[in-house]
Amino acid sequence: LYWDVNLSGSRVLLEAMAAAGCRTLVFSSSATVYGIPEQVPIPETAQVQPNNPYGHTKAAVEQMLTDVATSNPGWRVASLRYFNPVGAHPSGQLGEDPSGIPNNLFPYITQVAAGRLEHLRVFGNDYPTRDGSGERDYLHVMDLAEAHAATLSYLMQQKGDIQLTFNLGTGQARSVFEVIKAFQTATGIAIPHKVCPRRPGDVPKLEASPELAAQVLGWRAKRSLEQMCRDGWAWQQANPNGYR
Ligand code: UDP
Repeated sequence: LYWDVNLSGSRVLLEAMAAAGCRTLVFSSSATVYGIPEQVPIPETAQVQPNNPYGHTKAAVEQMLTDVATSNPGWRVASLRYFNPVGAHPSGQLGEDPSGIPNNLFPYITQVAAGRLEHLRVFGNDYPTRDGSGERDYLHVMDLAEAHAATLSYLMQQKGDIQLTFNLGTGQARSVFEVIKAFQTATGIAIPHKVCPRRPGDVPKLEASPELAAQVLGWRAKRSLEQMCRDGWAWQQANPNGYR
């Protein structure tokens, strides 16, 4: 399914864009293209070595974009490698509504807070990290949206034949226990949790070097972890059963 939607879907989109004379594209890629990173914080020059099917499809689309942009004139393309986007629009009207039981930490936490799930499972407290739990570079979806707008403005100012890749993160990794604590500080709600074994395929720590985006686009993530928690919770409260 990832290959069909991500790769075939992107290929068809590029064909339609070429036919319509539209050659400017911002692609939503992912930090998962780095697999188990060789260095942390991760710069854009780090080796692309995905270790799961989703990551392989994102890396393949990036490669396809490179090939299109280098072998045809006029393309302006940016691949944005997202770290861990979380939170919601501050209105509480736009948020994340995963189908079934959430896999990701943030929607799981907001569903525990809403009483839909009993407790959070902390996947491992024996990683070589500050407190033993996994560390990730969480960024607010509104910061992510602003990065897209900044990227598009930048591309539109270029004459053509440009291909860029940016990491999008805050540059500051936070642990699972830190997220649980920040959620309580931001919302007043304690999240019951139990330490469980590590989840297969998880890496100890992911953290962006966001310096290239700052230099080229003038973009930096501004919103705090507490804001991510507050806005994510506002959406969950307004939509206790998701959009249904
Ligand atoms: N995590 C956890 N319990 C959960 C979901 C995630 O402890 O129910 C941990 C996970 O092991 C990782 C971090 O939270 O260290 C972020 O996981 P998520 O799935 O949100 O993002 P990703 O693994 O894609 O970075």
